[in-house]
Amino acid sequence: MAGDMKIGAYVCKGCGLGERLDTDQLEMIATREGKAAFARQHDVLCSPEGVAMIQQDIDSGEANHVVIAACSRRAKTEAFGFKNVALSRANLREGVIWVRPDAEDAKETTQEMANDYVRMACAESRHMHVPHPSGQQTLNKHVLVVGGGYAGLTAALETAKAGYAATLVEKSPELGGAAARLYKRIPTRAPYADPEDTRVPELVAEVEAHENITVYTHATVTRTSGAPGRFSVDIATESGGTRTETFGAIVQASGFRPYDASQLPELGYGKSPDVLTQMELEELVKAADGGPIKRPSDSKEVGDVIFVQCAGQRSDKAGHLPYCSGFCCNASIKQAMYFKDSNPQVDTAIVYTDLRTPGAGGEDFYRSGQDKGIVFTKGVVNEVIPAAGGLSVRMKDLILDEEMTVPTDLVVLATGLVANSGPDPEAALKAEVAKLEGVDDEEAETQAEPVAVVPVESILNLDYRQGTDLPQLVHGFTDSHFICFPYETRRTGIYAAGPVRRPMDLIQVRDDATGAAMKAIQEAENAGKGLAAHPRSGDLSFPEFRKEGCTQCKRCTVECPFGAIDEDEQRYPQFNESRCRRCGTCMGACPVRVISFDNYSVDTVGQQIKAVDVPEEFEEKPRILVLACENDAYPALDMAAQNHIEYSAFVRIVPVRCLGSVNTIWVTDALNSGYDGVVLMGCQKGVDYQCHFVKGSEMAHYRMSKIDDTLEQLNLETERVATHEVAITDIQRAPQLINEIAATIEKIGLSPFKF
Ligand code: SF4
Ligand code: SF4
Repeated sequence: MAGDMKIGAYVCKGCGLGERLDTDQLEMIATREGKAAFARQHDVLCSPEGVAMIQQDIDSGEANHVVIAACSRRAKTEAFGFKNVALSRANLREGVIWVRPDAEDAKETTQEMANDYVRMACAESRHMHVPHPSGQQTLNKHVLVVGGGYAGLTAALETAKAGYAATLVEKSPELGGAAARLYKRIPTRAPYADPEDTRVPELVAEVEAHENITVYTHATVTRTSGAPGRFSVDIATESGGTRTETFGAIVQASGFRPYDASQLPELGYGKSPDVLTQMELEELVKAADGGPIKRPSDSKEVGDVIFVQCAGQRSDKAGHLPYCSGFCCNASIKQAMYFKDSNPQVDTAIVYTDLRTPGAGGEDFYRSGQDKGIVFTKGVVNEVIPAAGGLSVRMKDLILDEEMTVPTDLVVLATGLVANSGPDPEAALKAEVAKLEGVDDEEAETQAEPVAVVPVESILNLDYRQGTDLPQLVHGFTDSHFICFPYETRRTGIYAAGPVRRPMDLIQVRDDATGAAMKAIQEAENAGKGLAAHPRSGDLSFPEFRKEGCTQCKRCTVECPFGAIDEDEQRYPQFNESRCRRCGTCMGACPVRVISFDNYSVDTVGQQIKAVDVPEEFEEKPRILVLACENDAYPALDMAAQNHIEYSAFVRIVPVRCLGSVNTIWVTDALNSGYDGVVLMGCQKGVDYQCHFVKGSEMAHYRMSKIDDTLEQLNLETERVATHEVAITDIQRAPQLINEIAATIEKIGLSPFKF
């Protein structure tokens, strides 16, 4: 409550701040303008003595809001990680002295920067509240694993071994999935020379015997509601009954579907029983049980076999898979070894365009295949024709540059995998967003057309406003930040593992499932404490909204990248705290600005913008506002500072949780109050996005695409506002973008709104 607010401001003189800045002036600004109850200076604020000084003020009740005027908020987070206070940081080191020259003629503008950052941090503090958990959270240490294939079995077992209960739901009558149908697997340990036993029966037995694991086969998930820590799941079983159980987190390991080889008639599939997929060959070899492998058409022992790599894959032909399935080259080598190991006289040829054998032992396995006499031919198979007594393979040898026709007994097609993901809610949502934001999005409109001719069965049956299943990336794999947090799907507390996430082989599946299980455990624990999941892990704040101001426009519900918001019976948004990643995209979306966090709101940023001292026109000192995403752009600027790359003294940078949280009111308010330029710096958007909140940057671009109209209404040049995609590695470019807008302002002149 405002009446209880006691702001303590602490100005550091270490790291050269005391020499470069007038810290007495900063102290005075904090108390007189910033309304701090008191301000103190310290020679090295992050030292044990400095930290103890602050802690003592907190413990004695002197301060419940703490303003640290020192280094970047990204530095010294442990030293300044005070609990149960509202904390704000004025970045005087990376944000001021490290980006400005230590020269007499720069002294004045450098001090002005520092003064403003202290004003801004105090203004932020005045509008913050101490974050508190909501009371919605519950601790539930039970993990649901959906899918009983290799990934699901591994995830359940790793969960149980870590001391948590796991329930495994598999729709077919047997556990083991595709891995159980394999004769052997590619080797997992040195010398990586021969196929290995799959050990799937042993894995299944271990799962079935584990006291911490409950298994339902012939069962499906018919409804999932709730949130991390309190998922309520209906499991329909073979007997016709339905059980409702609660879980802390979920691992979706729904695996893959084989690519439909009937789309490859030119390669003879469906025309001859002797043209098989890799999976069909596994079954043939398994049935042979170590004996001679016979071709299906007439049970003649196979004398020669051709493996066709990338069959219907890595191709832009309609109906083909554009991607590499990641496992089939090693799988073909393994299968060619089945023949060679049973009879070295069998001719085996693998026809490839690019042979890919990833993993620790991939290269060794390939060489072992060569040693066993497998022929590797760089070529393209154009046609497989059933012929008298066998098959004719028409191909082009790419080394000899020759067309040829080769007779063979058997052809095996490496047809790859398709993610078994359930229906993608994203296309409909994208069209809804485009409509709400009033932007033309041809892509969204196209995607809104029904994508699947054959209806895809739901896997999780999520009872969420935003659709029944996990949003997907291109090609149907579950959407996740592929660099920073690959297991996190866009439905918090639900982790994807195995080939539903991306193409992978069994070795990768094992690691992937283990990772997903660990993430699920972590999230169950975090949800129990009311803490946010990655990337704002540990954050206690969550969005609250003022119902009486809400116009039920649905923007927050539809634009939340994580499906955290449902709608209640009166169609008001209904926030699910532990589903929320605390990105603030809903806050940026809300046209009536009724959504806020305790420590991050339209006011905490808006008042920082207003706190900046905008000089009058005759002073000829422009002010440029930079709203920088705290995940990539702000760190890039910090790193630029560490490298002492200078930028304009006229810029004032405000870190934001995500560009998606930027409410356009901040931009229009800044322009109205005399700022000369505004720059938004966020992460890369689009299919290969880098945005840590997936859609936030894209939403900001949507919203900012309409800012030109506002500028026109204000009679301002459109060059005054720019939105940039910035990577964490843009250490040179980020300051350069700032200098570019400073140069633009110099060219077009100061804002007419300064009076
Ligand atoms: S803060 Fe982000 S994740 Fe949370 S409800 Fe808002 S938009 Fe969704
Ligand atoms: S965006 Fe704001 S006004 Fe619209 S539904 Fe959400 S809270 Fe209500």
